[in-house]
Amino acid sequence: MDLIDTHSHIDLAVFRDDIQEVLTRAREAGVVAQVLPGVYRAGWERLLSLCSRENDLHPAIGLHPLYLQHHGRDDLDALRDHALQGELKGIGEIGLDYFDQDADRRAQQELFEAQLAIAAEAQLPVLLHVRKAHDQVQATLRRLRFSHGGIVHAFSGSLQQAKHYQKLGFLISICGIITYDRATRIRAVAAAIPLESLVLETDSPDIPPAAHYRQRNSPEYLPEILAALAELRGKTVECIAEQTTKNAKDLLGL
Ligand SMILES: [Zn+2]
Repeated sequence: MDLIDTHSHIDLAVFRDDIQEVLTRAREAGVVAQVLPGVYRAGWERLLSLCSRENDLHPAIGLHPLYLQHHGRDDLDALRDHALQGELKGIGEIGLDYFDQDADRRAQQELFEAQLAIAAEAQLPVLLHVRKAHDQVQATLRRLRFSHGGIVHAFSGSLQQAKHYQKLGFLISICGIITYDRATRIRAVAAAIPLESLVLETDSPDIPPAAHYRQRNSPEYLPEILAALAELRGKTVECIAEQTTKNAKDLLGL
């Protein structure tokens, strides 16, 4: 069974001491590819060099909406250069995060739109980070007529919102939250979205599955998310693995 982790921060310092062991265990668990989103420019170089060294790691760098104070004036130009050089599988993670009331929503919006423009120019999909702002993100995608699709990472919205993303050409990414019994809402949504619109992710080192509660999450745990999704949908793990992997490959060109 081949699995793709569509959102893994394996480039972060928390994996620096044992990254080769983690990669080996992830491969043994069936994870044939990992997509590495960027957060801010200072992290891009390590991420890109890691991806050029390991064939199964794929870069999708970008400027995260929660790190506005880290982003510099010419970071967008640097992102555009990388994107147009053809070394990326997507632009991420980008979006809007309204969870914190004090967030500078106007600055987030400008940053988001500028990166959508870069993705459109480079004809790349985007990895979306969205909290409490699905309607605003969808309105932006519609207004800019963004047509290269993408993935809504660690989706936590409603079924209705998922359907709207689907119409906009986006896939919904399921993470370890569904392994928790109390996550009833997202479990119900994950069971109801058409399988053709779903992909899997760990979001390592964050959002560990229930069996690893409060531990560092790792791409090697992706089969646990797969198993939970298969159980919720009453399907075999093979069936879910095959379709979600196909979905990720088709979108990202892996
Ligand atoms: Zn992330």
